[in-house]
Amino acid sequence: MEDQIVRRVVIAGGGTAGWTVAAALASQLGPLIDIALVESDEIGTVGVGESTIPTVRGFHALLGLDEREFMRATQASFKLGIEFRDWARVGDRYFHSFGQIGRSTWMGDFQHMWLQARAQGFGGDLGDYCFELQAAEAGKFLTGENGRLNYAYHLDATAYGRFLRGFSEPLGVRRIEGRIAEVRQAPETGFIEALALQSGQVVEGDLFIDCTGFRGLLIEQTLKTGYEDWTHWLSTNSAIAVQTQATGPARPYTRAAAHDAGWQWRIPLQHRVGNGLVFASEFLSDDEAHAMLTERVEGEMLTDPRLIRFRTGRRRKAWNKNCIAFGLASGFVEPLESTSIHLIMIGVTRLMQLFPFGGVTDALADRFNLMSQRELEGIRDFIILHYHLNERDDSPFWKRCREMEIPDSLAARIALFREGAHAYQDAHDLFRVDSWVQVMLGQRLAPRAHHQMGRLMPPEQLLKALTDLKANIAGAVAKLPDHQRFLDSYCASTGRENG
Ligand code: FAD
Repeated sequence: MEDQIVRRVVIAGGGTAGWTVAAALASQLGPLIDIALVESDEIGTVGVGESTIPTVRGFHALLGLDEREFMRATQASFKLGIEFRDWARVGDRYFHSFGQIGRSTWMGDFQHMWLQARAQGFGGDLGDYCFELQAAEAGKFLTGENGRLNYAYHLDATAYGRFLRGFSEPLGVRRIEGRIAEVRQAPETGFIEALALQSGQVVEGDLFIDCTGFRGLLIEQTLKTGYEDWTHWLSTNSAIAVQTQATGPARPYTRAAAHDAGWQWRIPLQHRVGNGLVFASEFLSDDEAHAMLTERVEGEMLTDPRLIRFRTGRRRKAWNKNCIAFGLASGFVEPLESTSIHLIMIGVTRLMQLFPFGGVTDALADRFNLMSQRELEGIRDFIILHYHLNERDDSPFWKRCREMEIPDSLAARIALFREGAHAYQDAHDLFRVDSWVQVMLGQRLAPRAHHQMGRLMPPEQLLKALTDLKANIAGAVAKLPDHQRFLDSYCASTGRENG
């Protein structure tokens, strides 16, 4: 008896989203489904999206991708976090690292101990107690059997799409080159039945995945799903991107440097550096942004600066009828914390868990949409936090960010930290306590009080515990190789040289 109603999956679009979804579905559900992917070389991809977070490693492991092969193919470097410059005040600098800070107990997180030490006149910087942060500062890195750093990658976006395509096609994904001219729907239900290409070819399917980027050809232009606009919280709406030659060894972190009307990214790869200025067009014209970027980038420009427009927000339903949107078609928060590629990966993982073999139902779609929404709202709050908690008085952009109304969920978090130094990670939250604490403190949110657990031990004992912890980390960092040197040798080897 055949109880599988959904078998033919059609992916529209072949950017990072399209090929990530194709790779996951083909490798995990391959024998149960047929997968076609339509993409248009003429339209091309957005060409940015080069900084990731550590969850990418779990996803690669699920697919069985070889790390060295992936890194060689995408000219990737290692990433231990993000360096924030000039965010709370011009001249400020802090790290959001991927590491764990100090040691937490059941009673409270490490920041309470540290704040107690500070109150007693010692303790140094919070970052002294984070291995990843110290390694990033020192430009050092190690992975493999001897490494215990939590890390992600910087990668070449175009090469990543190519790499995933090379992985997916041998697994049976049928790639169709061509421009989608029409999306055909069933007259009664509105379900999508087929994509008609300009060439005349018709691609029929049971389930359609919209990865067509900002245009949302299926989810929006066809199904009119609607968009929840977040520009009143995240008012940057433009980016101008350029690639430059490296001027020194690749640092194992992304840099996010604030400017008058937004911020600038710097992402070091093996063969070049990715740069871009994110800005609010209300406060900075395209010409001014162009001039600012070209003046601020280090190294010779390898490409012409390219302007990209976006609107922060989320598609009201990522899953509507028999269409599911991933990537930019499903919404866009802001690239500040490098979360978009993660969202594609976690999204397709969820789709595989809820795959509608027996047919699309409201229950499946509702569950998928609720989980996606909660997750995205948590990320949204985390990003608003960076903008909102600022003390910059040098431009109207920062003033507005500081004075704007923020979501209640974020206001509650800020109050909790301000009143008692408490931070938390709910089940649907991507960012851990360490992330919230680093950014809140980095943005100069000073807690008025903290848990007194540090007073349960004599001050000398607290001092010794912190001194030992700091020394252990410094000792471990001193033993690590330089990031660039490790990167070169790691990518040059197969990993099987020693047996
Ligand atoms: P696209 O790359 O736009 O791909 C769309 C695809 O659809 C293309 O293949 C195109 O040919 C196809 N297509 C469209 N219309 C048609 C048609 N009619 N017929 C046939 N094919 C069609 N994410 C991160 O995780 N980290 C970052 O550091 C980061 N930085 C970013 C910086 C900026 C400024 C922006 C805008 C985004 C950034 N992102 C980042 C997000 C990241 O770029 C995207 O999530 C990722 O590239 C996925 O894009 P996509 O595949 O959805 O869209």
